[in-house]
Amino acid sequence: MKLVIVGGVAGGASAAARARRLSEDSHIVLVERGPDVSFANCGLPYYLGGVIAERAKLLVITPERLQTRYRLDVRVRSNVEAIDRAAKTVRIRDLATGRVYDEPYDKLILAPGAAPLRPPIAGIDLPGVFTLRNLQDVDHIKAALDAGVRQAVVVGAGFIGLELVENLVHRGIDTTLVELQDQVLPPFDREMTTPIAATLTDHGVRLILSDSAEAFEQAAGGLVVRLKSGQRLAAQLVVLGVGVRPENKLAVEAGLDVGPRGGIRVDELLRTSDPDIYAVGDAVEIKDFVTGEPAQVPLAGPANRQGRIAADNVCGRGVRYRGTQGTAIVGAFGRTAAMTGQSEKSLRRASRSYRAVYVHPAHHAGYYPGAEAMTLKLLFAPDTGRVLGAQAVGGTGVDKRIDVLAVAIAAGMSVYDLEELELAYAPQYGSAKDPVNMAGFVAAGLLRGDHPQLDVATMLAAPVEQRTYLLDVRTPAEFAAGHIPGAVNVPVDELRSRLGELPRDRQIAAYCQVGQRGYLATRILLQAGFSAANLSGGYTTYRLWQPVEMIS
Ligand code: FAD
Repeated sequence: MKLVIVGGVAGGASAAARARRLSEDSHIVLVERGPDVSFANCGLPYYLGGVIAERAKLLVITPERLQTRYRLDVRVRSNVEAIDRAAKTVRIRDLATGRVYDEPYDKLILAPGAAPLRPPIAGIDLPGVFTLRNLQDVDHIKAALDAGVRQAVVVGAGFIGLELVENLVHRGIDTTLVELQDQVLPPFDREMTTPIAATLTDHGVRLILSDSAEAFEQAAGGLVVRLKSGQRLAAQLVVLGVGVRPENKLAVEAGLDVGPRGGIRVDELLRTSDPDIYAVGDAVEIKDFVTGEPAQVPLAGPANRQGRIAADNVCGRGVRYRGTQGTAIVGAFGRTAAMTGQSEKSLRRASRSYRAVYVHPAHHAGYYPGAEAMTLKLLFAPDTGRVLGAQAVGGTGVDKRIDVLAVAIAAGMSVYDLEELELAYAPQYGSAKDPVNMAGFVAAGLLRGDHPQLDVATMLAAPVEQRTYLLDVRTPAEFAAGHIPGAVNVPVDELRSRLGELPRDRQIAAYCQVGQRGYLATRILLQAGFSAANLSGGYTTYRLWQPVEMIS
């Protein structure tokens, strides 16, 4: 079999290595436009920050190594310009010599990735304005940094934007982050990003939300970024991280089906609309694992797995790709945000019914030194309790919980299963009731009717005069340090003796710091005949809805 693979990084290199392991006899040609194969795109921001000191560390494997170890026919600096489906050939241009030739294939795997978006902003081609995708981009940015940058502007507060900001600050550069939306990390629910936004400002990042770059202008001493709001930001370096678009030109010109957002359409075997052509990675439209709807998820894990599966199927194994959950993680200045499955906003957009709970546990036993708080949001189906999504923000241990919940989603588990999960515990690692168990208890209690809850978002959406009766059951000292406007303070330990002070004709929402005392108060009130609910996640959740300046 003659297998040609277009694109030699995450998806393409995985496919090539797997195909070779399955088929010693095949002729496998790996065609890559750039000079490098299988480099670590995910490490690029850390090289810029000096955290990864050696450029060579970013080269996971060299073309020569791929040739010797896997006997691959690697052709770097070679661009595939066209696919002739009838003749089953690809047209390749050798970018070093200019030679153009046709290469026949029996099977073709497209792994061309996605290109950074370059919106039509005036001045986008000025020197000093960059995007970041590969080692050549990183070399240009590094050269600019080494030439002396005092001020930088990063446009776009997604995963790459945040990583860039952290690394620029790490180099001592005065950095501004501009984001069109009213939050950082747009895939997350807004309230879950408040601690990350606060961390950025705490570390001196100037964060400008709900604004966008309208023009880049040359100025004395560098560039000026003109924002829609009229603000002008001086910088010697601008990096755009505003998203990516699938590299679908080859596929479109060859008449392969693409989705409305440009992703190459593939079936469960990762075949395109041509059964001899497979496609993987950032360039494809796949099925969302939770909703079953088409989705584009440009992440390294899915690209690598899809590359492997496409190779399996080229070799006749009939392996089905189960869909992508969008499990993702990012760190900035010691804080971590991670998610898996659906977000609340994506569920709302898809008109799916869901419930959400928040818990704020410590990452390990509170009595053991060094416990760090995290916020965990769990989204689940109101009828079956099936876990639909989770997000967590905090420090140590966020990754572990999201990974456990990613497995729970993949296994089709419900919140009742989360209650029962037996997870590793010793005081320095976790708690006998792990944060994942805690989220399960709260969610399952809600579905069983033991633990009625009111969401902060619902509470805040009601006009102040129509709001539920808010009962703060924390201590007077905690209440004095900050409370929800309009709340009445009755500490939980006094509640049983002060029930006479509470209204019987209104719903009472009890709250404490994180939800635990609020839960007990809710149980006391319910059993005393009151209409009561616990404000989900308590005052800590309420604070996630407050402006960043108030919590940083
Ligand atoms: P790519 O890895 O982009 O490879 C595609 C290759 O195809 C490119 O090298 C391109 O030159 C080549 N190509 C395209 N067209 C042609 C053609 N016509 N002929 C020849 N060659 C062609 N994901 C995570 O999950 N976690 C992270 O922390 C993370 N961090 C990232 C940080 C940065 C700075 C970047 C840029 C990406 C990051 N990603 C991360 C995303 C991840 O790198 C991608 O999802 C993954 O690389 C996609 O793999 P792919 O094979 O589809 O495309």
